[in-house]
Amino acid sequence: MTSPTPVPTRKEIQITGIRRHVAECVTSVKDSPCGARSNSWDTALHLDVWIRAHADEYEHKKFVKRTEEPVNVFTKPAKRQP
Ligand SMILES: [Zn+2]
Repeated sequence: MTSPTPVPTRKEIQITGIRRHVAECVTSVKDSPCGARSNSWDTALHLDVWIRAHADEYEHKKFVKRTEEPVNVFTKPAKRQP
């Protein structure tokens, strides 16, 4: 299996908002992940609190912490040759 080389384009990706932190429970429940997600916050401080609370309530033990950034894609204008 080979993946094709990405073709260069003039598409630019620009971050349009603040980074958010979110935690997700990936503990297996009947062969699929629990999937519970915390709220998203602009600081990582609350993630551990949410994880502990979820772990206490459901006895789940595997989590991931993610950061998310909203981005926009826009097409760059073609460069003029000098
Ligand atoms: Zn869970």
